[in-house]
Amino acid sequence: MKDLKEKLKKMAVELGGDMGIANIERFDNAPERMHPKNIFPECKSVISIVAPIPRGTYRGITEGTHWSNYTYYSYNRLNTLFRPLINYDMSCLIEDSGYEAVPVQPGVPERPGAREPVAPGRPAPGLNINVRIAGVACGLGEIGWSKVFIHPKWGPRVRLGTILTDAELEPDPIIKPGTLCKRCMKCAKKCPGGAIPMPGDRDPIRIEIDGETIEWGDVHMGRCTLTHHGLNYEASPFMKKALPGVDLNVRESEMSEEIAYRMTYTLAGGRWTPSDEMPTDTIIPFYKQIMEHVGYFAVCGAKGCIRACADFQERTKNIEQTGFKTKIFEREEWKLPPPKDDETGGIAEGKFPEKYNRPDTAAGRFGEPV
Ligand code: SF4
Repeated sequence: MKDLKEKLKKMAVELGGDMGIANIERFDNAPERMHPKNIFPECKSVISIVAPIPRGTYRGITEGTHWSNYTYYSYNRLNTLFRPLINYDMSCLIEDSGYEAVPVQPGVPERPGAREPVAPGRPAPGLNINVRIAGVACGLGEIGWSKVFIHPKWGPRVRLGTILTDAELEPDPIIKPGTLCKRCMKCAKKCPGGAIPMPGDRDPIRIEIDGETIEWGDVHMGRCTLTHHGLNYEASPFMKKALPGVDLNVRESEMSEEIAYRMTYTLAGGRWTPSDEMPTDTIIPFYKQIMEHVGYFAVCGAKGCIRACADFQERTKNIEQTGFKTKIFEREEWKLPPPKDDETGGIAEGKFPEKYNRPDTAAGRFGEPV
């Protein structure tokens, strides 16, 4: 079995990623809706895989000029196309060796209890492996305070996948908590949604894996979703033109993740009759366009959780891949003004305000009262 482990590791590295292994016993404390055995009851080993997010995919957002790369290469296509190719090839290698391999679609069981069990004694459908917790159990990295996974080579610039197998593979040692996340809090300070708590703001999340206590910040997922999916003026220049005047005060929002998803995706995919005020029938044209291409859209550019953490990890040489000639934040950071202070009425550069829509400050009034 050592031979199979070595072949798998070689393949993961040759395909541009990395992998780690946990024995199934490390999931003894896993809740029913995240337990690997509830997907594959004969599972004896869990394999976690990472693929790096190229550092340059954030550059356009850092400069405030190009947003599509983030959705394509940092997020959706990396998670749904490039990284799964590693899972796929490794799964085939495992099955060529006489064991079953279950490549698991990465996700989190966000809606427990939404459906009834298919038969008595079975967990309800919709369960999934938590890829980040599996990554920790497999000794592949650490969950940082921001909840983002940190890998010893690429830091927070990774996407994860999982394979379950009945092959009994030698587990890798768990990385000691505190090795990669140094609690510098740069992620919390830079998150444009105020989604990452400072210590003491909220109780952290704590779990036990193989005798180690793993802890991370209780990220406000409603604020994270509003920012990631483009309804925060601090992270999105698109809503300034399409939704002038809208300021959701995301940093203080108590909206749930579910409601935030319902709002962001409805606005991205929706249509409404064109008018003089809004001559297009799409609500936010860039979101609609990228949704139609990819089925997903992301806008925030992970300024706090990934970029600020990567900046810290590189500066302190806490990870292997450092030494770039360029900095993560190379020049003065752009910042859009809140809508009430925005003299341009909705376009970041302010060069052509006459072409862009201004909020109707008298909206809803039928005239002066008589
Ligand atoms: S920026 Fe990274 S290292 Fe610093 S607290 Fe956040 S997750 Fe931890």
